[in-house]
Amino acid sequence: MRVVRIQGPERLELDDAPEPTVATPTDAVVEVTRTAICGADLFPYHGLTPGFEAGTIPGHEWVGVVREVGDGVRGLRPGQRVVNASMISDGTCAHCRAARPMQCESRALFGYSGVYERLDGGQADLVRAPNADRSLWPIPDGVADDDAVFVADMLPTGLSAVRRGGVAVGDVVAVLGCGTVGLMAILLARRVARRVIAVDGIAARRELAAGLGADAVDPDSAPAAVADATGGLGADVVIESAGAKPALDAAFALARGRGTVCVVGAHFEPDYPLDAGRMFEAELTLRFAMGDPINDRELLLAMIAAGELRPAELISHRMSLDEAPRAYELFDRREATKVVLAP
Ligand SMILES: [Zn+2]
Repeated sequence: MRVVRIQGPERLELDDAPEPTVATPTDAVVEVTRTAICGADLFPYHGLTPGFEAGTIPGHEWVGVVREVGDGVRGLRPGQRVVNASMISDGTCAHCRAARPMQCESRALFGYSGVYERLDGGQADLVRAPNADRSLWPIPDGVADDDAVFVADMLPTGLSAVRRGGVAVGDVVAVLGCGTVGLMAILLARRVARRVIAVDGIAARRELAAGLGADAVDPDSAPAAVADATGGLGADVVIESAGAKPALDAAFALARGRGTVCVVGAHFEPDYPLDAGRMFEAELTLRFAMGDPINDRELLLAMIAAGELRPAELISHRMSLDEAPRAYELFDRREATKVVLAP
């Protein structure tokens, strides 16, 4: 079967690999129909992920059709359309029992070996899903693959940003970084907040954010836009969805006194210089949050099925698996907002 492998910094290869099989009774093997490239994939692509294992097949966002299930899989059968959860979890540890699957003691992210245990992802013709009853979920009829792929990670992350940021009715929310996760946060925050100010340096992304109902500005204009919307107080909630130091710096500056900064962009830097003086003086709350597809996928799929969310509108490029190297380049140069590969 065809697979994409990250071999080293900027070394993305198409390779031929043996087809995965059911290795333990709780596994399923899925024929991938859609798989997305995530901003988080750019960290190992640039060699910025500590301990990343060369040769890993990336891809933690995919949908497909179940080909085979192990004897221990109860809720799935061959032929079913499914979407994955970005992270696998065992369902039995103390974190899982307390409904915190993203903190599972045996968690692993598809396609992110090194940070977690080796687990190949979905940028391939076929993918093996361990703990399939948890790591996969059936896609309801009437939800297209292109929409469902957002439920693997991006939409749950947008929902985490809004919920864990504590966005309340009437809030002014600043979203820093209008990649897909930022756009998902805007999509959901707009349902609650009075105003959403979307900040990004790239005009095409600002346009997408504006299309979702945000006031879109470039980073230099953000302080004035937030001040203007809040009588100079600052944003009630700042969502940092860029996964970059400058955005994190800006987030603290844009939050109002006793406001919240919720970080959903991926960070790996161990040495961020937190301005404790500013944090204390302004009584800021800082939260980090990941998307939680296992807890939130049913809700989000129901919203898509009801026509309330149409995330596929934000796909900028549909390409074949064979075009993955070019797709990564386009995405890396920010020429593509969201790339979905169809094996
Ligand atoms: Zn667990």
